[in-house]
Amino acid sequence: MTRMKAPLLFLTAVALSPAVACAAPAQQRPNVVVILVDDMGYADVGFNGCKDIPTPRIDSLARDGVRCTSGYAAHPFCSPTRAALMTGRYQHRFGHENNPKYDPADEVAGLPVSQSTIADALRAAGYVTGAIGKWHLGAAPKFHPLRRGFSENYGFLGGGHDYFQVQMDGEPKEYLIPMDRSGKKEPLEGYLTDALSAEAAAFVRRHAQEPFFLYLAYNAPHAPLQAPEKYLARFAAIADEKRRTYAAMVSAVDDGVGLLLDALKELGLYDRTLLFFLSDNGGPVGVRSNGSDNTPLREGKGSVFEGGIRVPFAVTWKGRIRGGRDYARPVSCIDILPTALAAAGGAPPAGTALDGVSLLPFLEGTASGDPHAALFWRTSGGKAHAIRAGNLKLAVPESGPALFDLTDDTGETKPLAADPRQADLESRYTQWNDRNVAPLFESPKQVVRPKGKNRP
Ligand code: CA
Repeated sequence: MTRMKAPLLFLTAVALSPAVACAAPAQQRPNVVVILVDDMGYADVGFNGCKDIPTPRIDSLARDGVRCTSGYAAHPFCSPTRAALMTGRYQHRFGHENNPKYDPADEVAGLPVSQSTIADALRAAGYVTGAIGKWHLGAAPKFHPLRRGFSENYGFLGGGHDYFQVQMDGEPKEYLIPMDRSGKKEPLEGYLTDALSAEAAAFVRRHAQEPFFLYLAYNAPHAPLQAPEKYLARFAAIADEKRRTYAAMVSAVDDGVGLLLDALKELGLYDRTLLFFLSDNGGPVGVRSNGSDNTPLREGKGSVFEGGIRVPFAVTWKGRIRGGRDYARPVSCIDILPTALAAAGGAPPAGTALDGVSLLPFLEGTASGDPHAALFWRTSGGKAHAIRAGNLKLAVPESGPALFDLTDDTGETKPLAADPRQADLESRYTQWNDRNVAPLFESPKQVVRPKGKNRP
């Protein structure tokens, strides 16, 4: 048996034993919460060593759970990572390799409806399912969260949003569209991050008596850089204005995670909730920097070097997975769906070939070895790609291939010269890529964003 076959074997095992899997009493099935942040740098949480932005509540997830030091996004930018997270599959299998432009009339640019989602699967397993925050998986009605397995939605359908305002009338630009509450337009009250946090806490309170799946996708700390004085005041000591505002935005997320965790704890649900915390890609660096920090990783958002794809990543299930530990083997957001389904006793629809695997046996220590023989990335239909197998990483940006041993070169600064293993990695990439399709749609050339402006 090769490791490459593991995902299919997992699927078979689940498919053959639904009665056993579903026999667990409902109260033993965990709630599932995915907290996704947007454009956060690898080094911008306390659990990865951040010093200037305290994140005690996010850190508590790593303390009560497992910090995945090689936790990856499936793509170095927004929407494709979300498509992978939603489906447990490499997004290249179904052509979702770019950002959909915000256009409610566009029936192509979105997560293909041929693909079922983690919400579909958990809903079929008896979970109530809520999406809160940034969607970015298509703006046409057929792509709406309520059509993709979610029973409730609060947030916005585009790729980003102004943190203080919406435009209720006329045809607003992407970043000013009204909030969407299960298909109905709403104004935005207060600071967007706070609004999403309040909705998340309300969701778990509303559904405390039934198993729930909450997908909480903050758009912070994605641009525009905007924060209210409440959070900015915490960072008067940071001289750099961009970093100061970014810190305020991250701090607001931390408060929000705290609000959610407090609700779970008050309701006695925390120990039986499986939580994932991660970013959708690395922090942007260079001219598009949002003030984030990927130290010690190379480059950032958009890149197939580690700074683009390795992200803050923690998995917490206090009642089942022993906490306070690090897990260093490579894992990915494609593993969230299989892990959640294994925990919930649900099954993906027959015929779905998942690329992700359940991390439960690895995080519980009953399985050794790597969850994946290799992880793969591909951008722009193949202009750049990367492979990680064990600690060996082949990055192939447009400038050409470079092989690294991440064991002592996390920063990808010392390319290995003339190494025979490079051809093997390339060959594995070719095999993986043979099962991919061309992108179904292109990213918009330019997204018009309101200029960042803080409010008192
Ligand atoms: Ca992003």
